[in-house]
Amino acid sequence: MSPDIQAGSEAGEATTALSPPTHSDGLLGHPKLRILRGITRQMTTAAHLETVLESIVNALGDHDQALVVRIFLLMEDQECAVCRQRIEAGAQKATTERRLHLVAERSRTPTSSGVFHLVPVDSTLPVAEMVRSRQSFHVDDWRTVGRFANNSLIAPLWTSLGVIGVAGYPLEVQGEILGSIGYLAERTITPEEFSVLGIFADQAAIAIKSAYLFRELARHRDRLEVENEYLQDEFRHDTGLDNVIGQSAALRSVLRKVRQVSPVETTVLLTGETGTGKELIARAIHDASQRKSRPVIKIN
Ligand SMILES: [Zn+2]
Repeated sequence: MSPDIQAGSEAGEATTALSPPTHSDGLLGHPKLRILRGITRQMTTAAHLETVLESIVNALGDHDQALVVRIFLLMEDQECAVCRQRIEAGAQKATTERRLHLVAERSRTPTSSGVFHLVPVDSTLPVAEMVRSRQSFHVDDWRTVGRFANNSLIAPLWTSLGVIGVAGYPLEVQGEILGSIGYLAERTITPEEFSVLGIFADQAAIAIKSAYLFRELARHRDRLEVENEYLQDEFRHDTGLDNVIGQSAALRSVLRKVRQVSPVETTVLLTGETGTGKELIARAIHDASQRKSRPVIKIN
């Protein structure tokens, strides 16, 4: 990952965004490392993805005094808890478009940070731009960058918040883009901070990916359980007319009707009280029909 923007530094220093942290003294005791370790541990229980993401934005907010830290994930509305709730309440129209959804935020602004929960991928906001370009970025002072200063969406928002430095990373794992992390400060963001932000972004990306994999695994397991239960149920049921035992006139009449109706392509309505054998007759009809090689789907 490399910065695609490197605007002039106000301090007049040469800023190389990818230079390693300058202070190695006491690095192991650095609070950020302890936080990173905690986050890595939390990642083993991917069910707590929200906790991990919250820890990341809080860590960056607390220790770097960022003004705003946000994590956005690329997903469909139905995959987002916030959007699902809004759709159910009729406050939002459901789409299948993959957009960026705000999943974690840490903000020190007393007023609204002007955050948008939903950001389309083609938006001019940096969170969307990072997802499109898959490039990190680091701007010392956004006011010196024309495309931000002249952006009618961004300029008023960042001016009202007092933002100066802006940075961010795409969240990417093995070539798959998952979202992005954005970082706003009321001052210039140092190259060291930018590097640390990158480490946190990598951790966030891995945590998100493992949570997705766990979720997919759970879905497969649930489906297999349902299928297994269904097959077991099918196996337990013997089928066919041979299983209908009885010689009464009424039963013989029913069996005659079964033989009559089975070869016909038609819907059959069976009525009768619970326990009188409707399902047995339905299976007998199926077994004598042209569809006998296909499964019977029972819906209760
Ligand atoms: Zn959403």
